[in-house]
Amino acid sequence: MTEHIAIVGGGTGGTVLANNLAEKLATEIDAGEVAITLFNDGPDHVYKPVWLYVAFGQREPSDGRRPLRELVDDRVDIRQDYVYDIDHEAKELELVDATEPVAYDKLVVATGSQLEPERVPGLVDGGHHFYGEDGAGALRDELLGMEDGHIVLSVIGSPHMCPAAPLEFVFMVDDWLRERGRRDDFELTYTYPIMRVHGNEHIAEWAQPRLEERDIAIETMFNAEAVDPEAGTITSMEDTELDYDLLVAIPPHTGSDLIEEAGLGDGGWVDVDKHTLEATGFEDIYAIGDAAQTGVPKAGSAAHYQANVVAQRLSSEIRGQPATAVYGGKTICFIETGMDDATFVEFDYERPPSPSEPTRAMHWSKLAYNESYWLTARGLL
Ligand SMILES: Cc1cc2nc3c(=O)[nH]c(=O)nc-3n(C[C@H](O)[C@H](O)[C@H](O)COP(=O)(O)OP(=O)(O)OC[C@H]3O[C@@H](n4cnc5c(N)ncnc54)[C@H](O)[C@@H]3O)c2cc1C
Repeated sequence: MTEHIAIVGGGTGGTVLANNLAEKLATEIDAGEVAITLFNDGPDHVYKPVWLYVAFGQREPSDGRRPLRELVDDRVDIRQDYVYDIDHEAKELELVDATEPVAYDKLVVATGSQLEPERVPGLVDGGHHFYGEDGAGALRDELLGMEDGHIVLSVIGSPHMCPAAPLEFVFMVDDWLRERGRRDDFELTYTYPIMRVHGNEHIAEWAQPRLEERDIAIETMFNAEAVDPEAGTITSMEDTELDYDLLVAIPPHTGSDLIEEAGLGDGGWVDVDKHTLEATGFEDIYAIGDAAQTGVPKAGSAAHYQANVVAQRLSSEIRGQPATAVYGGKTICFIETGMDDATFVEFDYERPPSPSEPTRAMHWSKLAYNESYWLTARGLL
């Protein structure tokens, strides 16, 4: 009998997992004992970190997109379809374009995050963002055309992908304007929904003086309630109103509708054991990456490390051995602190992040990582 491993989501987590499993289980796959299917709702794999650079005219929106088939081992069957429900009793997936459900023996949910800007009245028309391919292109057109004015970066959604990216954006825009001798023509404001400038207290302590020394105004405890595109204002639930000429917002996020539909967790995030990554209360279902509620940030590096853990666990299970690999919360992140400098953090469930002194070398490491990502996703690095 062939054991069928189904992976839903062909982003960072799903792709790394598929390639890792194809290598580990090559013998079993070639013998017809194991089959792996990667389900994705589009033909392409998307690498989102390049969108940060699109805003400054350094990358094209499409630089983050490549056909999944080019990245995934030939031993893995790729099906382009949207999985809309899971029957975990019958162990079947319901697909939009297939007439019959698809049976699985082991399932991994790697469905990532999606944006919901419409949750804030006025935001769709009044705000820009760099959290999507189209959004990043539109933001670039707006930013590069500005002569002066007030740029407000408002972190609205939480949790959101890459918690460092909003800080990176304001540090970069500040530096980018200074390089052009135009910083005095602009006001910059950074808003955050809790009483400090970042969800992680160590990052907040590190970032606050850096924002202040660059004259970036800070509004903490700012929970955006509405945007008025005509008046050019954003108002918070705490009754603070800010005028803006360009609003760059981190929109509310949710997980795939599939997760709510299948009853795997609330808000689109799967409840998991944060060490084994098994979905709580479900047999033979794992979740990785943004979809998994582990407590670590929604970051591609976390998705990658989690994929490696689940690949080891599934390989052991398939071979009838005890699954011993666990995820310790490891996450790494390069944080741009300007156009030419960056810092680096590495942390896990036990050790908090401690940003290093920003250097030019770290900035180049981040750019080099962005290039080598395509090899990493293939499992070649
Ligand atoms: C601007 C920006 C900058 C970032 N920078 C960094 C960074 O520097 N470092 C870092 O570590 N992380 C960064 N991230 C975060 C990183 O991109 C995500 O955390 C990562 O992509 C999560 O991987 P994933 O596999 O969980 O989900 P994704 O990569 O989002 O992939 C999910 C896939 O599943 C598909 N899908 C969803 N639902 C279904 C369904 N029901 N059926 C079929 N297919 C489905 C989606 O279409 C998508 O292809 C950044 C993100 C953004 C937006």
